[in-house]
Amino acid sequence: MYIRPFDPWKAKLCTCPFKYTLNVYTGCDHGCVYCYITSYIPNAFRVRTKERLLEKLERELRKFNRRYIIALSYSSDPYPTVERELGITRRVLELFKSYDVRCLLLTKSDIFKRDIDILSELRCAVGVTVTTVNERKAKLLEPNAPSPRARIKALKNAKKAGIPVYARIDPIIPLYTWEDFEKTLDALSFVSHITVSTLKLRPDSKRRMFAKFPKLMEKLWPLYERGERIGGYYYLPRELRLEILREAERKIVERGITFGSCREGYRSFPSCDGSHLVPH
Ligand code: SF4
Repeated sequence: MYIRPFDPWKAKLCTCPFKYTLNVYTGCDHGCVYCYITSYIPNAFRVRTKERLLEKLERELRKFNRRYIIALSYSSDPYPTVERELGITRRVLELFKSYDVRCLLLTKSDIFKRDIDILSELRCAVGVTVTTVNERKAKLLEPNAPSPRARIKALKNAKKAGIPVYARIDPIIPLYTWEDFEKTLDALSFVSHITVSTLKLRPDSKRRMFAKFPKLMEKLWPLYERGERIGGYYYLPRELRLEILREAERKIVERGITFGSCREGYRSFPSCDGSHLVPH
C-alpha cells in the first residue's frame, strides 16, 4: 500500500490528529544536515521513484474514505529537484482532484508554484518549512533546497490563488536559527498557522551537525547532554525547550497567527500540523 496511516514511530509526544500519508518519492535530495530520515531510509539523500506508483495509487484511491486527509509527504519532500522534470507529484495531485481527496501538502521547495492551478481546485492546505530567513545559514543547513525567499514567494502566490497556507519553523536551533526567529516570523506573517519544533538529534544527524558546525555544536551539545532522551532522540533540557516554545507561541499569536508545536508535549491550537485548514 502506498497510502499509509501516519504513524511517527508511535512517538510519545506526537499529538497529530489521525491522517494518512503518501511518500511520492523514496529519499530526498535537499540534504538537510539535521534530517532524521537518514536514520531509517538507506541512502536517504538519493531520490528514487516508486514502482508503478500512479497505477497502484489510483487503485487505492478508489476505496479511500474521503473524510480523511492524505499528507504529502512526511518522509521525503514531495518536490525534490527531479520533480521539475518528472512531474510525478503533479500527477498525484491530478489523481487527488479526480477522487476529491483532502490533502495537506508540506515542502521545502518552491516547485509547487507550478501546481497552484491544481492545488487551488483541491480540498487542500499548503505549507512550507522555513528554518531561517537568513539565506547564508539556510544554504549551510539545507544545501540543495531552494532558498527560503523562493519558498515564501511561492507560498504567497498560493495564498493569492485562495489556497489556505501555513508554515513550519522546524527545527528551531538554539544559538543559531533561534537568533533569527523574529525576522523569519515577519517574513511569514501572511500565513494562517505556524508549527514550530525544537531541534531533536539522532546519532547520525548529530554526527553531520558536528562535521558542519563544529563551533556551534561545541556549545550546543552540552545542552543536549543535559537534556532528555525521548524515543531515540536527544531533546534539549525540558526547561529550556519550554522557554523557547512559550516565547515562540507568544510571538506567533501576537501576530494573529495560530500556533502549533510538533513532538514537544506542548500545546497546539487548533491543530499541531495545520490539518484544521484543509476544507471538509
Ligand atoms: S527536506 Fe526534509 S526529508 Fe528532505 S532532506 Fe530536508 S529534512 Fe530531510
